Amino acid sequence: MSFLKLENIKKKFGDATVIKGVSLSAEKGEFVVFVGPSGCGKSTLLRMIAGLEDVSEGRLDIDGRDVTYEEPAKREVSMVFQSYALYPHMTVFENMAFGLRMAKIPEAEIKQRVGEAARILQIDVLLDRKPRALSGGQRQRVAIGRSIVRHPKIFLFDEPLSNLDAELRAQMRVEIARLHRNLGATMVYVTHDQIEAMTLADRIVVLRAGLVEQIGSPTELYDRPANIFVAGFIGSPK
Ligand code: ADP
Ligand code: MG
Repeated sequence: MSFLKLENIKKKFGDATVIKGVSLSAEKGEFVVFVGPSGCGKSTLLRMIAGLEDVSEGRLDIDGRDVTYEEPAKREVSMVFQSYALYPHMTVFENMAFGLRMAKIPEAEIKQRVGEAARILQIDVLLDRKPRALSGGQRQRVAIGRSIVRHPKIFLFDEPLSNLDAELRAQMRVEIARLHRNLGATMVYVTHDQIEAMTLADRIVVLRAGLVEQIGSPTELYDRPANIFVAGFIGSPK
């Protein structure tokens, strides 16, 4: 049974249909990457999975349950944003603990979960710092840590590396791949970067103007692109 299932999902903003019927099944532990040019609907799709955006039509299942109309907090998914969205007045520890406190997790367990995530991300020495005293890469680790401590069923990433310079981006790419291996978690990752898609994905979903052009493994897309758009997109590194 698939762990994440999208059935003919559509999204309208006023008269404009920006997601025109997307279907997808992902297995537990799979790393799925949505890739496509700016404006094709990647963020909108991810936000619908997170529950941050209503679904106009179609059905969304997570872990065998219909969550199409379920509020975000009950979906047990967690999103990492491009902008990090850290609270500037809180320390790294407080930032990572915040969601757990809201969920009324006991303090001892919060300490344990934050400590564990900080070790995985190698930010244990930064727990007392405020975000302004961190580098871009460190901030991104904290943002990822905030997701890890939630023990979500699905990790959602919206272009998490696009604010980093090329060197750091390459390094974080390796770390996210390692994180995926270590946690064995299901991840849905949005990017417009072909290299990120090719190196991270078990399966790539190529989107164009709100529609799926092709779904397949990186090698399938590379070796047998369905059309010129996919070939051009996957074949042409930036
Ligand atoms: P991507 O993340 O692939 O760059 P988006 O999902 O952000 O694309 O946007 C897809 C399309 O939906 C774009 O044409 C965008 O202008 C439009 N869109 C996104 N959010 C809104 C909104 N809240 N209201 C109206 N149009 C929107
Ligand atoms: Mg986007």
